Amino acid sequence: MSRFGSDPRRRRGLVRGVGVAVLALATCGAVTGPVAAAPKPPDKQPTAIGSGGAVATVDPDATQAGIDVLRRGGNAVDAAVAAAAALGVTEPYSAGIGGGGFFVYYDARTRRVHTIDGRETAPAAMQSDTFAPGGVPIPFPEAVTSGLSVGVPGTPATWERALRLWGSLSLSQALRPAITVAQRGFVVDATFRQQTADNAARFADFPASRALFLPGGQPPAVGTVLRNPDLAATYRLIGQRGTGVFYDGEIGTDLVKTVHAPPVDPAATRVVRPGLMTEADLAAYRAIDRAPTRVGYRGLDVFGMAPPSSGGSTVGEALNILERSDLGSLDRTQALHRYLEASGLAFADRNRYVGDPDRVNVPLAQLLSEGFAGERACLISPTSTVARPIAPGSPDGAHAPCPPAATAARDAGREGLSTTHLTTADRWGNVVAYTLTIEQTGGSGITVPGRGFLLNNELTDFNFTDTQGGNDPNLPAPGKRPRSSMAPTIVLRHGKPILAVGSPGGATIITTVLQTLVNRLDLGMTLPEAIAAARASERNGAATQAEPAFPTAGLAALGHTFAPVAEIGAVTGVEALGHGRWLAAAEPVRRGGGSAKVVRP
Ligand code: GLU
Repeated sequence: MSRFGSDPRRRRGLVRGVGVAVLALATCGAVTGPVAAAPKPPDKQPTAIGSGGAVATVDPDATQAGIDVLRRGGNAVDAAVAAAAALGVTEPYSAGIGGGGFFVYYDARTRRVHTIDGRETAPAAMQSDTFAPGGVPIPFPEAVTSGLSVGVPGTPATWERALRLWGSLSLSQALRPAITVAQRGFVVDATFRQQTADNAARFADFPASRALFLPGGQPPAVGTVLRNPDLAATYRLIGQRGTGVFYDGEIGTDLVKTVHAPPVDPAATRVVRPGLMTEADLAAYRAIDRAPTRVGYRGLDVFGMAPPSSGGSTVGEALNILERSDLGSLDRTQALHRYLEASGLAFADRNRYVGDPDRVNVPLAQLLSEGFAGERACLISPTSTVARPIAPGSPDGAHAPCPPAATAARDAGREGLSTTHLTTADRWGNVVAYTLTIEQTGGSGITVPGRGFLLNNELTDFNFTDTQGGNDPNLPAPGKRPRSSMAPTIVLRHGKPILAVGSPGGATIITTVLQTLVNRLDLGMTLPEAIAAARASERNGAATQAEPAFPTAGLAALGHTFAPVAEIGAVTGVEALGHGRWLAAAEPVRRGGGSAKVVRP
């Protein structure tokens, strides 16, 4: 039985009132300076309850941008685009117009869930061996910081399409708050400084990245103001002329030039491979409307992102497997054991079967079928773990009784803490769950000179060589979208949204979203508790990653092996409390904590 509904029991800020002083310090490019007056970043709370709409992101300026839009009568889609654009300024290493993402939208009028696939796309010249010439994979760090890994960005097209289909603002209006943040600057905090320091060596090799993010050759100090007038101008241009100026105009020309001949400092010793993207690739880009994934879970409907993301299919398959156990009635060790086992099984199938559905045949309906879940669930024992690595099942529609467990090659997938997730809701009951990224923290490390944004390295999400014995669904190919793990998720009850969540974290996104749902829907936690709880991520790899506070002892006795990690994921979400009230929630601690607000507290 679901317990859902029973007892729902600093980063940095836009400098207010110092814009003139800061402008006086700035003569060109990105300038940091001591804050002229004591900076007063917007309030940052990880939880808020109230009415009129809600926004949760990792950053207070972005949350505020969304709230301001809602307050002025905008809807959840307008607020999501405004917040995402602001994140492009204040979280430039995680998201921006140089990247892509997946936008999931619940429309209150029609009671339907829609999604936009804004995933980056491989250029037409990309081949299956591009990342492994002669069968030898390029060293991963070399692939990351290269033109080769830059996919055609999908984020500008996603914003334009979402606003056109469901928004009430123009793109120019939705970009306005972000332009203000970029122009006036934001106060650097410890997380931003650390992320810059982690990237300093490669940023230093690209003069445009160096000028923007390493003022005076160093990561900006905590408490200084970082401005990005180039990005403000880029946003302005896109607002005035539409995304054509990006995909088929002067910004695109600069972008392709940068990918073709990455502007490396001549003094740098770094090998920076040129990319294959052409202006024709850019002009051909389309954000794609896709049917969401849907699974029933304990009387609820869980909607997610279909391939090329593996988010919806893997979370969905795991939920289908978990639905066969009454998790709420089990002791905590048994409940978590089943969560880890379901996740390991679903990952085995994800790795074998999920890729770009426009290039490979993904048996999505079968992966999400009850019959297949039954076949997979019967491998789970209460007293031991399925031997790792787990072999993929056969989603062929013929559901055999419990097959013997076989083992297969490992393909754990990469994890990180780049990417960002935001969630919005409005007074009409529309909801958006939107995850966007430039892949690694700092993407390719390459800034388009004069344009103020970093390029993604999303094409490193392809497998460089075949991991599935001749059946790898995620090898590079011309025009193909690399498999993602992004899992923006909206849960409905009787056609109305009750919960929306998502997270960054590479392949751990899937387990973070799954665990948050289980915590909330089965284990009696409130949404803030579900988000704050210690996490573990089981992906059919060598060991289950676990945060220090995750209760491993009883699980180890069942055969689980754990590898410690400091932090997994950074969730934001909203929950409908009824009568137009919303609970907005973000991380209290991880990644410096997030920011949740409502229009009327
Ligand atoms: N590129 C990853 C994906 O699409 C997200 C990156 C991250 O969160 O670290 O799955």
